[in-house]
Amino acid sequence: MTFQRIISDQQLEELMQREAARFEKRTPGSKAAFRQAGEVLLNGVPMPWMGDWGTAYPLFIDHASENRIKDVDGNTYIDFCLGDTGAMFGHSPAPTAEAVTRQIHRGITTMLPTKDAVWVGRELKSRFGLPYWQVAMTATEANRYVIRICRTLTHRPKILVFNECYHGSIDEALVHFGPDGRLALRSEYDINPGIPKEALTRVVEFNDPDALEEALAHEDVACVLAEPVMTNCGMVLPAPGYHAKLRELCTRTGTYLIIDETHTLSSGPGGYTAAHGLEPDFVTLGKCIAGGVPVAVYGFTAAISEKINASFGHKGLSDPMGIGGTLSGNALAINALRATLKHAATQTAFEKMIAGANRMADGLEASIEKYDLPWSVTRCGARAELQFVPRLPTCGSEAKAAFDWPMIYYTHLFLANRGLLITPFHNMMLVPPMATEEDIDCLVKGWDACMQELSVLSG
Ligand code: PMP
Repeated sequence: MTFQRIISDQQLEELMQREAARFEKRTPGSKAAFRQAGEVLLNGVPMPWMGDWGTAYPLFIDHASENRIKDVDGNTYIDFCLGDTGAMFGHSPAPTAEAVTRQIHRGITTMLPTKDAVWVGRELKSRFGLPYWQVAMTATEANRYVIRICRTLTHRPKILVFNECYHGSIDEALVHFGPDGRLALRSEYDINPGIPKEALTRVVEFNDPDALEEALAHEDVACVLAEPVMTNCGMVLPAPGYHAKLRELCTRTGTYLIIDETHTLSSGPGGYTAAHGLEPDFVTLGKCIAGGVPVAVYGFTAAISEKINASFGHKGLSDPMGIGGTLSGNALAINALRATLKHAATQTAFEKMIAGANRMADGLEASIEKYDLPWSVTRCGARAELQFVPRLPTCGSEAKAAFDWPMIYYTHLFLANRGLLITPFHNMMLVPPMATEEDIDCLVKGWDACMQELSVLSG
């Protein structure tokens, strides 16, 4: 199953040129800022993904508040990208902003704990059901630490990830099946040609229990690192019973199970884990949990905590494993985490977000049906993904085959020119608590107008 383009390459190119010209006219300030930035920043951006929007230059932002972004030219956008989940509860949630403003004058970082950490630990335990927690700065870092713990405790070298997953900049999780079926780096450039990828990683397709069973049977895998719903290659939902099988196989083979909730927190206050009764050994998550202040957390079972201390005495993770991060868990981070969990990432907020996302997905599906397009919408709580294939993908390869890059870039630019932002690189849309029905309907109408034009052109 691969994407079906409904118009010709040339038609799409013409549409793209029209929208690119419109973009350029609306955003002279961003263009000028980009030119200056290019003199000192690689490709004109401080972080590579900021240049990945498919436009000649990115928007330069003046202001972001709740679900609105204003660029330096004064254009406003209703934001459904939300910093690729970093701002899932809206930009600068007021309670987080207030807490951070207070704390910033009371000491940012001392390498000593504050009492707020107790509240945070209790809250995470009650949300995710895991008794022990640690704080890191980014989800990448949380995943790295957890992998390190798993390798140390099991004395096994490999990790297992799912084809086309993403868990951050972790070398052994950035592999996938190459065109020859062997493991390869996900990038087209093999930046580490000398490193045998098979030594560190096993990769299987999501939703293939037989392949998983075979891969874990070698008993050389320290941990499976999984998103409960794949969200970084488009979106792939787990088949009924798949998570139970994953748990059973991990237990049977002595493999730790890490559930990365960084994106699937969209499922509710305790993520997909709580919403669907999963029983992981570790949970990791980052991005939005402190309202966009860089904080990540990882939780684990009592058995793991005992094993860590039995192996390493009172030093726990610190000395033997090099796990820490000088700024991690500092007063500012913990304060932002507490304020966000207590006041922004609440049950009430999630109810609104999920209802809004369902309204959005219903609207998109209605338009897809109206124009009879071979597209589909996958839902995961407060997020939904429009994919250019007629039925929901069942694994990473299928989801990746739905990636029609020129169409992704075109549709996103069409929407941006009409004041609507969605996540670059794929068609992920997130609904924050403050999005009104009008905001959501505006996005649906934007997509509808885009689909209508494509449908007319396709004849
Ligand atoms: N885990 C998942 C599931 C992610 O989607 C991402 C980033 N997109 C990460 C981890 C890494 O997050 P960060 O870049 O904030 O470290």
